[in-house]
Amino acid sequence: MKGEPVSSNWDNLLKLQELDSQVDHLEHEISILTLSLGLNQLEEKKQQLVNDLEINREVLEKAMVQISERDSESREITSRIKKLEGQLYGETKYGSKDLQNMSHELKALQARRDEIDDEELREMEEIEPVQNLVSGGENELKSVEIEIEETITKIGLSEKELRGEIEKISSEANLVRETVDMSVLEKYSKTRAGGLKVAASQVVHGSCGGCQMKLSATELDQVKHSSVNDLVLCEQCGCILVPRETVP
Ligand SMILES: [Zn+2]
Repeated sequence: MKGEPVSSNWDNLLKLQELDSQVDHLEHEISILTLSLGLNQLEEKKQQLVNDLEINREVLEKAMVQISERDSESREITSRIKKLEGQLYGETKYGSKDLQNMSHELKALQARRDEIDDEELREMEEIEPVQNLVSGGENELKSVEIEIEETITKIGLSEKELRGEIEKISSEANLVRETVDMSVLEKYSKTRAGGLKVAASQVVHGSCGGCQMKLSATELDQVKHSSVNDLVLCEQCGCILVPRETVP
C-alpha cells in the first residue's frame, strides 16, 4: 500500500460498505415480498372464504334433504288420493258409511298435502339467501384464487429483478473489495459476518455513523489520526470509524 494515498483506502472501504448496504437492502426487500405484495392477507382471505363456504354448503345440503323428504311425502299422499278417488268414483259400489269415511279421508289427505306443499314452498324461499351466499362465496373464492396466482407470479418476477440488481452490485462490490487493504477488509468482513451490517462508517457531527453514539474528544482525535494499520473501532457498535477529513 506504499505510495498510495491513505484516503483512497478509506474511500474504497466506504464505497464497499455502501454497495454492501445496497445489497442488504435488496435482500431485505426480497424477504418481505410476500408481505409487501399482500400474499399473506390473500391466503387468510381465501381460508375465511373456504370456511364460510363449507358452513353454508352444509346448511344448504341439510335444507335440500328436508325439502326432498317433503316432496316424496307429498307424492306419496297424492298417490293415496288417486287411489281413493278411484275407489270413490269407480265401478265398485260402497255402502254410504264407507263412502262417507272415504270422503273424509280424501279431504284429510288433500288438506295434509296442501300443508306439506306450503311448507315445502316456505322452506324453498328460506334457503334462497343461503343459495346466494354459496354461489357468491364460490365466485369470490375463484377470484381470490386467481389473485393469489397473479401475486405469486408477481413475487417471482420481482424477486428475479431484485436478484439481477444484487448480482450487478455484488460484482461491483467485488471489484472494490480488491482495492481495500487486506487487514482492513478482514476486520470489515468479520464484523459484518458477526451480524453488524454497518461495519465501516464516517464520523458524522462527532458521532459514530453506524450507531450515532457521540464520541469523546479523545476518541475523535484517535479517529482523526487513525490509519489502515491503526484502526479505531466504535466502542458501542464495533464498526470501523473512518476519519471525516480524508473523504472529500
Ligand atoms: Zn457505533
